[in-house]
Amino acid sequence: MAVQRTFSMIKPDATRRNLTGKIIAKFEDAGLRVVASKRVQWQRADAEEFYGIHKERPFFNDLVDFMISGPIVMQVLEGEDAVAKNRQVMGATNPADADAGTIRAEFAESIEANSVHGSDSPENAALEISQCFKEEEIVG
Ligand code: ATP
Ligand code: MG
Repeated sequence: MAVQRTFSMIKPDATRRNLTGKIIAKFEDAGLRVVASKRVQWQRADAEEFYGIHKERPFFNDLVDFMISGPIVMQVLEGEDAVAKNRQVMGATNPADADAGTIRAEFAESIEANSVHGSDSPENAALEISQCFKEEEIVG
């Protein structure tokens, strides 16, 4: 499997509890490198655009409210099989189902406040990276 890039976000529940470093350490320990990073406060339109694929889901409005409730950290992670590896390190969406040792098992508060986002395919990774970073902001 070739070296890939994926998009990652540390969500407001985690920045609020000062868990940024502990979460990044999980990625680094798994062999992923942070090659781009920025901490931002999203406005409603940013969250609505990013999560547009979930517009019809019943939790959409709550998810948008949550994602603008505090700062997030956007990152590009690089490494072998980075898309799948990131999802493994994150654990299942619902922390109750997440494997021991994963970020969501250790840190998530709920199915919504689940500490991290990660792209679910190489295609979405490329799209999400280009939505959030300029090429020159990514430094391998
Ligand atoms: P993410 O896209 O954030 O990496 P995911 O791919 O594991 O997470 P998705 O199904 O894409 O999960 O859902 C996006 C986000 O919406 C979840 O991470 C979570 O914050 C929220 N969410 C998903 N399902 C629910 C639900 N049933 N109730 C409340 N919030 C939910
Ligand atoms: Mg998803």
